[in-house]
Order: sequence, then C-alpha cells, then structure tokens
Amino acid sequence: MLKKMGNSDRPTTTAEPIPFLDLAAQQARIKEGVDARIQAVLAHGQYIMGPEVAELEAALCDYTGARHCITCANGTDAILLALMALGVGEGDAVFVPAFTFAATAEMIPFAGAVPVFTDIDPRTFNMDAASLARCVAHARDEGLRPAAVIPVDLFGLPADYDDLGRIAAEADMRVVADSAQGFGGVHKGRRAGTLGDITTTSFFPAKPLGCYGDGGALFTDNDEWADLLRSMRFHGRGADKYDNVRLGMNSRLDTLQAAILLEKLTVFDEELVARQLLADRYTAALSDRVTVPHVADGLSSAWAQYTVRLPDGVDRRALRECLAERGIPTNVYYPTPMHRLSAYADHPCDPAGLRHSEEAAATVLSLPAGAYLGSDAFDHIVSTLLAHT
Ligand SMILES: *Cc1c(COP(=O)(O)O)cnc(C)c1O
Repeated sequence: MLKKMGNSDRPTTTAEPIPFLDLAAQQARIKEGVDARIQAVLAHGQYIMGPEVAELEAALCDYTGARHCITCANGTDAILLALMALGVGEGDAVFVPAFTFAATAEMIPFAGAVPVFTDIDPRTFNMDAASLARCVAHARDEGLRPAAVIPVDLFGLPADYDDLGRIAAEADMRVVADSAQGFGGVHKGRRAGTLGDITTTSFFPAKPLGCYGDGGALFTDNDEWADLLRSMRFHGRGADKYDNVRLGMNSRLDTLQAAILLEKLTVFDEELVARQLLADRYTAALSDRVTVPHVADGLSSAWAQYTVRLPDGVDRRALRECLAERGIPTNVYYPTPMHRLSAYADHPCDPAGLRHSEEAAATVLSLPAGAYLGSDAFDHIVSTLLAHT
C-alpha cells in the first residue's frame, strides 16, 4: 500500500482550484523526515559540501546504476559542465531538439560551440534520429565539427537512445542526455542516468525529483570525466580548494538541498507508481478525443508532465480559459520551438525543416498531474475536457 497517497477524500469543487502539481501534499507526507534532515544540517553547520552531498551522490548512484554522480547547482550548469568536461568548444556543433526548454541549448554558445536544431518524432516529442542524421551532414557542410548530441527526455520519456547513439557513434560524437525531466525513467532495463556518455538532471522543484530550490546532477561511468566534473563544479580545484588547476565554476549543490533530496528519494519510487497509474487513467479516459502520449515497449516515463495533443479545430486558448474558469490549470510546454525564439533564431536547423516541432508547439496541452492528484480532481478534469473538446 502507498501510505497517504492521493487525496480522494478531499472534495474538488469548482471553488477549489486543482493544483497543477501538488507539492504541498508531498510536503505534508514527508514533513517529519525533511524537518529532521534540515535540523541535522543546521546542527553540523557544513552548509557547503557537507556529508549529505556525498550521501546523496552515493544514493543516486545506487538508484540509477551509474558509476559516478556529481551534484551541482542546477540542471543548466550541469549541461555546461558536461560540455566543458568533454572539451566542446569553438568550431563544434552540438545537436539539440527544437522542441524543448531553452536551457537545453542555452549553454552551447556559452561553451563556444554552435547549437544545431533537429526535429522531433511527433509521437514521442523526442529527438528524431533521421533528423539528427540530416543535421550532422548539414553541420559538416557548414564547416562545423559534430561534437555532441543532447537528446532530451521530454516530459519524462527517455529519448530514442539506440538510434541516436548509433548516429553519434558513427560521427564520433558524445551523447549528453538531458534528463532534467527524465529522472526515474527507464529505457530497456536501464535507468535514466546511464543512457548517455554523460547524463544531466535537474532538481528544480517541479521536476520528477525536485528539491526546495535549485539543484542538479551529472552521471557518468567514465572516471576521467567524473574527476573533471568534480573539479569544474568547484572552481577547477586540484588537490585542494586553493590549488586551482583549471577554469571551473561555482556550481555545488547546497547541503540543505541534498538533505531534502535524500528524504524525497525515500518516497520517489512510490510516486513513480502513482504517476504511472494517473497517466494510465488519463490515457484510458481521453484517447478517443485527443492524442495521448505514446510510450514504446520497453520504456517507462517518469511522467514529469502528462501532455496531450489537441485535435485540429480545437482552439487551445479558449479551451484553457474554459478549463481555468472551472478550476483546472493547464500549461503549454512549449509554445515556441527553439529556432523561433529570438535568442536562438540564427542557428542552423534541419535542412528538411522542423515541421513536427512547430506542430507540437501549436497543439500540446499539459494537464494537472503528479503523484498526489486525487480521484475527484481527476474526474472533474476528464469530464470537463470531454465536454469541451
Ligand atoms: C528544467 C530543465 C533544464 C534546466 O534545469 P534547471 O535546474 O532549471 O537549470 C534543462 N533542460 C530541460 C529539458 C529542463 O526541463
């Protein structure tokens, strides 16, 4: 049995708005343990790189099966640290899907390299392998060296690591898995954290495993990259912190956040089960009316979001307003594909175009989800959606 799971006894009326993600319910469930963990940090006072940081890194290695876990300040820094450790820089092309959160591409120009936008598979919203292959050829034509690909586990679903990995290997590129939304996902028996040469994740509060502030981590099986990452997150430290042997950053995970994450990890697997159950119920209830998420055999999603695609002719803005009036919050992740954002408009794209990314941006809708959405809320969401699509 899942202890204190769900809020089915709490009535959901139109007067009581449904939370998009009920972090308060989770906090109520784990409050005692979190309080004790926080008090322990206040008592020992090692706020930076205290013992909870190493304890969390060991726990996350255990959980994912990765050989090394290196925590850092957030999921965006994690991507920059990965590119730095891999030596990505001037003249390099790094391939990212056009349909993602901007942070996936943001650090590539920072590292001195050029982001190249690939299209997505319209069924999974994840990077399309054929598009990656076209983009690699295109980058070479532009005089760039293909250096790395950053597949994204969008909405929690692991990317197509088999086909993408094959193309990466052929082009002698590294795979940096952006599992900011994918922590907890499984790809053919292997957990997120082990699916790229280096995997990055985020502990932003709304991610599948979130802390109470910013946080992130990197995973790798490679000893050399792990050593570089440990140095680079800490001002490029060598044998000690005042022996700076390379350029780095200040990107450590706070001890307090590590302590909170250790407590959250104790309920994480039960939450994954609850999120899967909710996704299954949404899919069963909605699949006749909207395009529901597709999860291929052998994969499981961490369900960072439950995102449907609206059919032609449904006015998304009007639908969202109608749902909001009935106490149902929704979100559009993401309304604009990367290549249409002004900060990223000048970068190379798939020469065949980015049609699926554009269509996804125009039609997606993310519904209230998470492990703590009650049955009454679920029924209200489904019946309202069915009545208005
Ligand atoms: C959240 C997110 C990031 C960045 O993580 P932060 O911890 O917020 O910096 C990167 N990529 C994707 C796909 C994300 O969803």
